[in-house]
Amino acid sequence: MKSSISIVKCRTYDRDETQIAVRKAFDLLGGIGVFIKKGEKVLIKPNMLSGKPPEAGVNTHIEIVRAVIRLVKELGAFPFIGDNPGGSVKPGVAYKDSGMLAVAKEEGTICAESKDVKLVRGLPISSYFFDCDKIISLPKMKTHSLMCFTGALKNMFGAVSGLNKTECHKRFPRPEEFVDVILDVFELVKPQLVLMDGVVAMDGDGPIAGKSREVGLLIAGSDSVAVDTVFLKIAGVDPGNNLTIREAGRRGLGVSDIKNIDVLGEDPDTVRIKDFKFPSSKLLMRLPSAVMKILASFIKFEPSINESLCKKCNICMESCPVSCISITDSESKISHSKCIRCMCCHELCPYGAVGLKRNFLARIFGL
Ligand code: SF4
Ligand code: SF4
Repeated sequence: MKSSISIVKCRTYDRDETQIAVRKAFDLLGGIGVFIKKGEKVLIKPNMLSGKPPEAGVNTHIEIVRAVIRLVKELGAFPFIGDNPGGSVKPGVAYKDSGMLAVAKEEGTICAESKDVKLVRGLPISSYFFDCDKIISLPKMKTHSLMCFTGALKNMFGAVSGLNKTECHKRFPRPEEFVDVILDVFELVKPQLVLMDGVVAMDGDGPIAGKSREVGLLIAGSDSVAVDTVFLKIAGVDPGNNLTIREAGRRGLGVSDIKNIDVLGEDPDTVRIKDFKFPSSKLLMRLPSAVMKILASFIKFEPSINESLCKKCNICMESCPVSCISITDSESKISHSKCIRCMCCHELCPYGAVGLKRNFLARIFGL
């Protein structure tokens, strides 16, 4: 099996520059019309983790979303935006604060809100993911403290509605278990087309509290596994050593062998991202599972709330799957004996107040 993906440079989110670059990324694959047909109802699925504004570099940028909406409309198809933010954040709030709602209104479309969920294989998926003809996924190029990175495959986990996501973390707290849930959801709502927003990426302890990086790239393709594989490759990681890519390849969800991916547009060797910093979980992901199991029991990362940064918004407390966070006027506290280290609090705190505390062994390994 072979896949084609395209890499295109896009230095800024200037509206004209973005639209030209997005069109080029799809044109290299034969044009958006190969994937989307006239009259189809098309869900545009950004990464909208929270209500952070576009300049924060947390969500897929609204100008990328706008450019894709316009191309879909040009074909005579009907685009709409849909995503579920993390934890207790309400979709309506995230759509408004992230700028997605304004883009939808300006472009004459809507942001979908789930009135109900559909239970598929025990997973609660927002029904609008099934009430459309095609899905275009717009992941953000970012790291992830639990899963190492969040790209095209993990973007579709946003189909799981609201606090049901944190419930999945509770049932499957370890990365080796959680990866199966991510891939199960992906299989249910597999997109026909993917465009990764790497104009401004995030490295370090993402997906919300990492560091913004100006990378200036878009990666597109119909194969989400291939898009993620190429991202890891240009970011300096061997994709074959990554848990998510390895499992996706084993399950036949796409092409994970870089030798079988035709890269169109920019040459991956000339657009390598220097010093892209993956989170501490990277080393654990690379080790064989037997070694990983032994080491993981000794290496500890714990979330820890920085009282001076905490704004008492309660998002972490409401989103914690095991209710082990208490936020009061005088103190913000995590009960570490109950914590299952799902990192949801770290992922969702809008103020970067939840850091990761490493134990002695983790520090020895430089994690
Ligand atoms: S730690 Fe962050 S998410 Fe939790 S209450 Fe404080 S500011 Fe809100
Ligand atoms: S306190 Fe522990 S269990 Fe609760 S959200 Fe944070 S990492 Fe997950």
